[in-house]
Amino acid sequence: MVNLELSEEQAAVRQLARDFVEREIAPHAAAWDRAEEVDRAVVKKLGEVGFLGLTVDEEYGGCGGDHLAYCLVTEELGRGDSSVRGIVSVSLGLVAKTIAAWGDEEQRRRWLPGLTAGEYVGCFGLTEPGTGSDAGNLITRAVREGDEYVINGTKMFITNGTWADVVLLFARSTDAPGHQGVSAFLVPTDTPGLTRRAVHGKLGLRGQATAELVLQDVRVPASAMLGEEGKGFSVAMSALAKGRMSVAAGCVGIAQAALDAAVAYAGEREQFGKPIARHQLVQELISDIAVDVDAARLLTWRVADLIDRGRPFAVESSKAKLFASEAAVRAANNALQVFGGYGYIDEYPVGKLLRDARVMTLYEGTSQIQKLLIGRALTGVSAF
Ligand code: FAD
Repeated sequence: MVNLELSEEQAAVRQLARDFVEREIAPHAAAWDRAEEVDRAVVKKLGEVGFLGLTVDEEYGGCGGDHLAYCLVTEELGRGDSSVRGIVSVSLGLVAKTIAAWGDEEQRRRWLPGLTAGEYVGCFGLTEPGTGSDAGNLITRAVREGDEYVINGTKMFITNGTWADVVLLFARSTDAPGHQGVSAFLVPTDTPGLTRRAVHGKLGLRGQATAELVLQDVRVPASAMLGEEGKGFSVAMSALAKGRMSVAAGCVGIAQAALDAAVAYAGEREQFGKPIARHQLVQELISDIAVDVDAARLLTWRVADLIDRGRPFAVESSKAKLFASEAAVRAANNALQVFGGYGYIDEYPVGKLLRDARVMTLYEGTSQIQKLLIGRALTGVSAF
């Protein structure tokens, strides 16, 4: 038997997230988008309500909970504003959860209470100007000198970059070839030699503090290494396997918002003497969105279920991210069509949904990279 009903507790978490979004996020999303900056105060509020501590143990400041609850909250955040959803997906999903999984006791105690409370923001520094999809060939270098590592390199498109207090940074620390020479480090962003430059002019996610990070002779103690030397790529890939579920959940939120907006508008707008909802081709647009919402949600929940039952989930996470991101773009585009010309101006919400959705097919592995991951798992042959 497959049980697709939410438990009472899960339904309550979703309602809590829905209310939070209605109160603290939705009223400001358009203004934050125009100003190209989310109000940072929302991070503290997310921490207070517990959304930055989901799935993290209580002894480190988290509030426990399962991955389905995490998906439900992420979907609601994505429904309200993808910029805010991304802040959580990175600070909690890619950074705090990875410290919880790979960190030693000292690293957990140092970073997790602040990250889960929203006092600290984390960012994930993998991509470089020359290595995006081919992340295992990154060139940022960490050279051991006594009890320290000296790090030099540049990271590109780092979400939360200008805000972050700590960067989970990937650098080459040995001469081993390809990804085998990569290690992970926890670098406080106030370390001398680390500078950041905001990336402006993004198509979507404009409220997010995306940055280029430049590291010039940045010194960290050897104890800043997360996981073993040479295991950094495994750290990154394990973070992204769960991260892709979080992106997928955010995409379900976008698609659901597109559906809600399209249905409401189709009931109000009249053409040819009747609401456009009564034109069959408008109903086709709406039903296409609805099917995308359901399919993306079910694929995403399956990943959460697999994680919560301790089963392998990485390929299913790639499938969910691939489908949900493409579905979110389709759904937002279909909703824009329902709005006609009004969809094209920013007084109405669907244009932002489409702009925000578009990047989901690019980051945490493009759609092409997800297909290569799925194809490799099915055929046993790497086609990268
Ligand atoms: P490229 O890798 O150069 O790809 C260009 C094109 O080539 C794509 O269509 C790609 O699919 C295709 N391609 C590449 N290799 C293959 C192949 N083997 N087979 C078929 N097609 C291929 N990175 C971080 O580390 N941390 C972050 O927080 C972060 N946040 C981001 C936020 C935003 C808004 C953006 C835009 C990016 C962010 N990124 C982040 C970077 C993101 O993960 C990369 O942009 C992404 O992995 C793609 O890399 P690239 O842009 O270098 O494109």
